[in-house]
Amino acid sequence: MVERRCRYCQRVFQPSKFQPRQSVCCDSGCQRRRRAEYHRGKIAADPEYRQVCLDSPQKWRSRNPEYWRQYREQHPAAAERNRQQQHVRDQKRRLRNLANNNSAFDLKHSVAEVWLVGAGLQSLANNNSAPAQVWVLEALPPRKPPQSESCKQQPPGLQAASAG
Ligand SMILES: [Zn+2]
Repeated sequence: MVERRCRYCQRVFQPSKFQPRQSVCCDSGCQRRRRAEYHRGKIAADPEYRQVCLDSPQKWRSRNPEYWRQYREQHPAAAERNRQQQHVRDQKRRLRNLANNNSAFDLKHSVAEVWLVGAGLQSLANNNSAPAQVWVLEALPPRKPPQSESCKQQPPGLQAASAG
């Protein structure tokens, strides 16, 4: 019997009699790597295969228009989680757009909680399960007025001198 060493996990295995050139063992992780490697190589080398891969999720969706609606009905918890995550992604995108229209700042998530402390808040805290979010935004310096009506570009040195 011929024995080979798997090129991924280095374990010794016996190739299948149907696949005499087999170089990867039957372990599911190794087979997954082999398929992924083949797929990557094929996408890089074969433009037609690449196009089929690009088209195929779209075609699948148009052949199965009810799939995701049914999935959401059958997996309400997953659908709800996805809705919440999408809400957070939308909020981040809005804030990023806002930041891009002003001056760039880093958007980072914080795990901070908000605690309500004080007289009279006990009943509020007991009856209120609404989650709170706090956004901490760094104050931005005031914007400089436009330097000139002209469309001509000014050398950076000149602009710095007139701004100071
Ligand atoms: Zn292996």
